[in-house]
Amino acid sequence: ARPMRLAVQLYPYGDGRRLLLAIDITEHEQAEAMRRDFVANVSHEIRTPLTVLVGFVETLQTLPLEEEERARYLALMAQQSARMQHLVEDLLALSRLEGSPPPGLTQWTPVGLLLRQCEDEARGLSVALTRANARPHVIEFPDSAPGVDLGEIAGAATELQSAFSNLLANALRYTPAGKRVTVRWQAHADGSATFSVQDEGPGIESTHLARLTERFYRVDRSRSRDTGGTGLGLAIVKHVLQRHGATLDVRSTVGSGSVFSVTFPAQRLRPPALPAPADAS
Ligand code: ADP
Repeated sequence: ARPMRLAVQLYPYGDGRRLLLAIDITEHEQAEAMRRDFVANVSHEIRTPLTVLVGFVETLQTLPLEEEERARYLALMAQQSARMQHLVEDLLALSRLEGSPPPGLTQWTPVGLLLRQCEDEARGLSVALTRANARPHVIEFPDSAPGVDLGEIAGAATELQSAFSNLLANALRYTPAGKRVTVRWQAHADGSATFSVQDEGPGIESTHLARLTERFYRVDRSRSRDTGGTGLGLAIVKHVLQRHGATLDVRSTVGSGSVFSVTFPAQRLRPPALPAPADAS
């Protein structure tokens, strides 16, 4: 634990007596330190791609280049610009989440619809991440065809969608193509339900688990950046889940893979009109 920090002031009354005022500024200082870290991190994350961009612009302006080389430079510039764009989008998403009241229980979204959108996105992303001629991931989803009722969740559909997508994108980005990613939706007897994503990636050592949702926390920096990571994905997931009263649980075994599970409380859920088919979970 960190030591307590006090700000102390002494006020003389003029008659020899003095008033000693001590204010506990521990939390204030911690918040300040976090803010400074955050600004330093953001600056660093932007500076790296920007340096690359500036370098390439200079090269293009000064050196006579073959058409092929020119195209290669432009492709790298496009990549670095996209990286900055993702970072800015994630930063804006975070600040929007922090600045708005949590969604109430008025807007209900069918779980099947969310899962269908996730599935389409996951299959597209897997193809994009897979090298030509290699097999994409084996992706398994519960049956969420339009006629299948998996119940409804209360909250902001776009936020929930982005939280689920972030978990899926991580599973796909950290799992080699050809291996399996399994998505499950499991309803529990007490009315709560769990969305989970299981992967066959490298797994995460237990010492890292508690810090995964911190902004810019990465287990492996270069791997995260290579696959287009901003380091903000799980921070966004955490915010969205908090706002929906949901909890995130991570189980991981190094060498065999990870399971990220999101559990929603009963009051956020409406059960399906008909009992879910046996293979839905
Ligand atoms: P990033 O953009 O770096 O992926 P995230 O906030 O989404 O940022 O994740 C934080 C870190 O957690 C990642 O850098 C990675 O080290 C680790 N991580 C997240 N998901 C997985 C996963 N499915 N398998 C292995 N490591 C993961």
